[in-house]
Amino acid sequence: MAKTVVVGGGASGLAAAYTLERAGVDCTLLEKEEYSGGRIYGVVREGYTLDLGAQFFFTRYRSVIDIIKRLGIEDQLVWFKPSLGILRDGTVHVVHTDVLYNITHPTALFKFRPLSSRGMRRGPKLGVKLLALRKKLDFDDPLKAIELDNISTTEYARRSFGDEILEYIVQPVVSALTLGEPEEVSAAYGLGLILYAMGGLGTLKNGIGFLAESMAKNISDLKLKTEVTRIVLEDKEVKGVEIGTGKKKEFIEADNVICGTTGTVAAKILGDLPKKMTGILADIRYSSCVHVMFAIPSKPLGSVYGVATPRREGLCMPGFVENSNKFSAYAPPGTGIMHTFSFGEFSREMMDWDEDQIKERMIHELQMVVPQFPDEPTFCEVFRWPEAVGLCSPGQITAVQRLKVDMGGFKGLHLAGAYLGMPSVEAAIHYGVQAAERVLKS
Ligand SMILES: Cc1cc2nc3c(=O)[nH]c(=O)nc-3n(C[C@H](O)[C@H](O)[C@H](O)COP(=O)(O)OP(=O)(O)OC[C@H]3O[C@@H](n4cnc5c(N)ncnc54)[C@H](O)[C@@H]3O)c2cc1C
Repeated sequence: MAKTVVVGGGASGLAAAYTLERAGVDCTLLEKEEYSGGRIYGVVREGYTLDLGAQFFFTRYRSVIDIIKRLGIEDQLVWFKPSLGILRDGTVHVVHTDVLYNITHPTALFKFRPLSSRGMRRGPKLGVKLLALRKKLDFDDPLKAIELDNISTTEYARRSFGDEILEYIVQPVVSALTLGEPEEVSAAYGLGLILYAMGGLGTLKNGIGFLAESMAKNISDLKLKTEVTRIVLEDKEVKGVEIGTGKKKEFIEADNVICGTTGTVAAKILGDLPKKMTGILADIRYSSCVHVMFAIPSKPLGSVYGVATPRREGLCMPGFVENSNKFSAYAPPGTGIMHTFSFGEFSREMMDWDEDQIKERMIHELQMVVPQFPDEPTFCEVFRWPEAVGLCSPGQITAVQRLKVDMGGFKGLHLAGAYLGMPSVEAAIHYGVQAAERVLKS
């Protein structure tokens, strides 16, 4: 059978190559870094499980759950409905996201007052709207929510629910999940994120990175430290890929190429496509972030999983999470592993800071919200993501749809990657599997 090359060993490329391998197709996966996983990469350090990219799955992640089952690692999956806090005027207001818990502990809900009385009265409007839109907000099929593509989350929320709900509910959730600002995110994606988040969160007992490891283990021809510089097309047909540059340039022949990189990288290596198509890819927008992980000798948040810090509170982070409250084995007993992220304009500024400067700023902000946070953590790990989460900015769903249609005119070329859906691990896996299925049908 024909030869397939998959470019990029993130969630989408791994899912594509794994699907092809299971079907017995001759396939090579080429990954630029010395590790696979891309934005679901994870490591274990001194007994702490570090999810360097994606932090959790949502219960509505059909393709993720499906591939986990196919990999035979469903015993790894743990679901949780966490207690979450929202910071307002220096006070953290905690709410439990499990409806059953709130029915059995009604007084807990009364303590949750991040909004004024007027805001509390308007809050249910958001819930009613999400319920009405629930069938349209689908990470695997963004076209269903096309009417919400051209409007930003900010504009939609301000108009529909008012300023307070925007600043103390919508912005904190959307920024915590995208590391961007709601102005940069379409209403389709912003509302989708809030709806998905309401259903509960999940992780793998060995960390999110275990999903990447499990797929990679099943791919026999995975080449790391191999950067693709060009996907070669002639007469609207794939010929193969070039790796390396100058005298070290090599050509690998292929009948099918699946490109599982970010949109911006795809725009560069797909220079043989017409400009209007690479232009759409180059315009895919991402947040950037500095991700800081602190191993600490205590659990200052108790059983609370995360705290969102609205931008009006003036912090460089949209919030922080305690990952041993996702699953206890993420940290040795009695200790914690706290994750913080920069967001929006702060990320652009902090990306060039040195590690000590970043650590100092993050500890200072954490101690403003959690005074018991230690001055000296057990260790601190800093990871920079120049392209963190796809923002699905206003107009992107329409543009990507045009691109998908035009792509049909190129034989043997298939796109994968989270930006084809509503950016997430779910969309990455969904579109990776879908690209492989297209190869199998060809
Ligand atoms: C900090 C952070 C937190 C997140 N939190 C969540 C979350 O909680 N839940 C969620 O669902 N999503 C989350 N996301 C988003 C999610 O991780 C991504 O949307 C998804 O993993 C993207 O997968 P992908 O395969 O499309 O792209 P990537 O993971 O970016 O994979 C692309 C791969 O291509 C490789 N590559 C690039 N150029 C080349 C080249 N020229 N040749 C060969 N290889 C190349 C890259 O090294 C990379 O491995 C988060 C992301 C980040 C960064």
